[in-house]
Amino acid sequence: MEQHLHGVGVSQGMAIGPVRHMGTAVLEPPAVRIPAEAVQAERARAERAARTVAADLDERGHRAGGEAQAVLEAQALIATDPELLADSARRITDGNSAARAVYDAFDGYRTLLAQAGDYLAGRITDLDDVRDRIVARLLDVPMPGVPDSDEPYVLFARDLAPADTALLDPALVLGFVTEEGGPTSHSAILARAMGVPAVVALRGATKTPEGVTVALDGRTGEVVIAPAADTREQLQALARQRDAALAATDGPGRTSDGHRVLLLANIGGPADVPAARAAGAEGVGLFRTEFLFLDDSERAPSQARQTEVYRSVMEAFPEQRVVVRVLDAGADKPLGFLTPADEPNPALGVRGLRTLLEHPGVLATQLRALRKAAEGLPVRLEVMAPMIADRHDAAAFTQACREAGLETAAGAMVEIPSAALRAAAILDEADFLSLGTNDLAQYTFAADRQTGALARYQDPWQPALLDLIAAAARAAGEAGKSCGVCGEAAADPDLACVLVGLGVTSLSMGPTALPYVRARLRQVTVDGCRQAARAALAAEDPQEARATARRTLDG
Ligand code: PEP
Ligand code: MG
Repeated sequence: MEQHLHGVGVSQGMAIGPVRHMGTAVLEPPAVRIPAEAVQAERARAERAARTVAADLDERGHRAGGEAQAVLEAQALIATDPELLADSARRITDGNSAARAVYDAFDGYRTLLAQAGDYLAGRITDLDDVRDRIVARLLDVPMPGVPDSDEPYVLFARDLAPADTALLDPALVLGFVTEEGGPTSHSAILARAMGVPAVVALRGATKTPEGVTVALDGRTGEVVIAPAADTREQLQALARQRDAALAATDGPGRTSDGHRVLLLANIGGPADVPAARAAGAEGVGLFRTEFLFLDDSERAPSQARQTEVYRSVMEAFPEQRVVVRVLDAGADKPLGFLTPADEPNPALGVRGLRTLLEHPGVLATQLRALRKAAEGLPVRLEVMAPMIADRHDAAAFTQACREAGLETAAGAMVEIPSAALRAAAILDEADFLSLGTNDLAQYTFAADRQTGALARYQDPWQPALLDLIAAAARAAGEAGKSCGVCGEAAADPDLACVLVGLGVTSLSMGPTALPYVRARLRQVTVDGCRQAARAALAAEDPQEARATARRTLDG
């Protein structure tokens, strides 16, 4: 029987495919005692699990080739290491369950590796991965982390962290469905970056059976579990119809009466550039550089490495604007070597620019890398800092840019209500504003952006949020400086029109949203956008704001 569920659609598009769950971390297996007569069967089970895991790792290595093959083959050898197998068998003979015995046997090796110096200590992750694979098989639970699948699938998870999603193969992920998260959670952002549809805050997502077919609509937030053949056909027809409408609009961002609005892409690195270009982005409005820093939990990437990555992005956008945000560590993006571990309220703690001002060397290296990367390129590089709270922050950032020899425009992200309320003072120090509406909503409503239960406060149509956007855009207009939106609010086609009506000059979003926003802007006049903005500001709540703005836009 098909079943219809509703969550919040956060990345447009439609996907149909089998469910694969993101495995949760393997819990330490319980210390179950087994009777003597079960020992032999349990030993055989442990050995079988280890050999199956090894064969699987070998096969994956073979498919992957290159460096990955060497790593996977080394892991396969660990899985069937004779001493580990013998140690597990001994523990089973002593009356432990296979899962517990394997877990404990690996633990012994883990301790040895940890004591054996830096290089071998670095292999602990590989050892843990092999252990988790064998234990998961013995407990008959999904493998922790990214699903093992050769076929395209719809990824179901409680929520996704940036580190999990970095391992996903974009060729296999048809879409995301998460139980938690809101329109601005990392699952949503990543889905848009990957160009796959996503639905978040779907109650019961984690209980959906593995392998069952689902259809999800990232526009409406509807998820159909086990859709009947005619439902599938209807949804596929609807998807084709939408695609045709989109394909009919291209070129730069403008309203039907020619008011220009730069349509830019949010990217996390060079891998996102092809999608941004394919979607017709007129440049990059937010390059989130944190992803580059996630590779190593111990230290920042070298200046040379950073230069190389930044340059490859800048090369892709000749004569166009590329706005790079300096590292935004802390809170929902913790970095081991920078983020304090003991903050009682990380979202209100040392994060964003605050982290960089405490680690000026990290900021200076990044700014120098950006300067070098842009050398000789026709790109219009701009840099901006996250989490600017006041004029003092803006001045400190601009000064750091100048000290690093970077003469490009230095902007301030407006993510804290104080910055929106005092935007004029910030613009005395900064060259432009970029509204990070995800954090701005979080701090306006004191509602954690990662908590699904608080998703209603993250609704970017909240009139209080619109008031702050209006204040910042007005100040920028008066100062004759640009004011973009790079938070997820820009990705909602109707809201994008309202933002233009509020005086926003550029909109930056995940590449998949670009065609939808471009097409919507072409249907309206700038005056229509202003009227819709007035209507939304006068609304009592987000539902009314959305409905009245839509009505106004549709004339
Ligand atoms: C924002 O907060 O709106 C933003 C664009 O930054 P991030 O989502 O990376 O925190
Ligand atoms: Mg932010």
